[in-house]
Amino acid sequence: MGTTTVVTTVCDLCNTQTVSTNRDTPDLELYEVFVGVWNPYCDSYPNRVGHFAHWCRPCCEKTGLLKPIARGDLSAPAPSPVTPPTIEEMLRELIRDETHAVLQGDV
Ligand SMILES: [Zn+2]
Repeated sequence: MGTTTVVTTVCDLCNTQTVSTNRDTPDLELYEVFVGVWNPYCDSYPNRVGHFAHWCRPCCEKTGLLKPIARGDLSAPAPSPVTPPTIEEMLRELIRDETHAVLQGDV
């Protein structure tokens, strides 16, 4: 008879909660967020004071602590790299623009 481990993860900021039976990869990935102070010139206790919380990825992204992950379609083909125009292409476009301006009477 096997034992099933149930893991409950809760974001301390938005209170999103998930219950998972997989201990290694819970459904809700949490990040430890902390803020604290430390005086490097003081040896007396308490020299370090910190506050810790566990936030989900969306909360970390909303607050700017983590960069958003591109959630596009991974099966979509990657965009082709942008290649700079050649001199010939730039000259053609310049001539085309100037010709168009002359024909429109803008010059
Ligand atoms: Zn959250």
